[in-house]
Amino acid sequence: MDQRHDFPGYLACQSCDSMFDVSRLRDGDTASCSRCGGFLTRYVADQFVQVVAIAIAALVLLALGCSYPFMTLNLNGLESGMTLPQVALSLIAHRMPLLSISVAAFIIVIPAVVLILVIALAGAIALERHFDWLRPVGRLIFTLQSWSMVEVFFLGVLVSLVKISGIAMVEMGFAFWAYAVFSFLFLLAVTGLDRAQCWHQIEQLSQHE
Ligand SMILES: [Zn+2]
Repeated sequence: MDQRHDFPGYLACQSCDSMFDVSRLRDGDTASCSRCGGFLTRYVADQFVQVVAIAIAALVLLALGCSYPFMTLNLNGLESGMTLPQVALSLIAHRMPLLSISVAAFIIVIPAVVLILVIALAGAIALERHFDWLRPVGRLIFTLQSWSMVEVFFLGVLVSLVKISGIAMVEMGFAFWAYAVFSFLFLLAVTGLDRAQCWHQIEQLSQHE
C-alpha cells in the first residue's frame, strides 16, 4: 500500500491557530473551524488531476479569446472587429500606454502565467514528482490568487458596453464568449487548489525523495 496519506492528520486554523483532526474527511467534505468559523480545507480526492484538466481547458479558451474578434462595432454602417490584443494595442494609439500595458498584463499575461504555474504544480503533485520549485511556485499561486483581475475586467467590459451601445451597435464576437468561459474556468482552477492539501502533498513528496 502507498505510504503517503492523501491528507494531513492535524491542521491549524489560519485565523485562530486551533488544531483539528481532519484525517477522516471524505471526498467532497469541507471542514471549518468550530471556534471561529474560519475555512480549514475542502477535501477532493483527485483534485490535482481535476485542476490540471480545468487549467489546460482555460488556457485553450484564453488562446481562442485572443485570436478571434472580441467585439464588432457598427457605427453608421461601418463595421470593425477587434481582438483582445488589438484592443490593448489600440489604447497605445489613443495615447493610453499605461492602460494598454495593464490590459495586456492583467487580462492576458498574468492569467496565462498563473495557469501555467498551476498546471506545473498540480501536475507534479498528481504524478508524485518532487521538485525544489514546488514551494516557491505554490506560494506565488496563493499570493496571485487574491488578485482576481479577470472578474474586474469583465465588469469593466460590461460597463463600457453600456456606454458604447449609446453611440454604436455592439455585437459580441466569438472571443467574448470564449473569454467569459475562460474567466469561469480560471476561477475554478485557482480556487480548486486546496492550500492545506497542496502543502501537505509537497511535504510528503519532499520526504520521499
Ligand atoms: Zn479558527
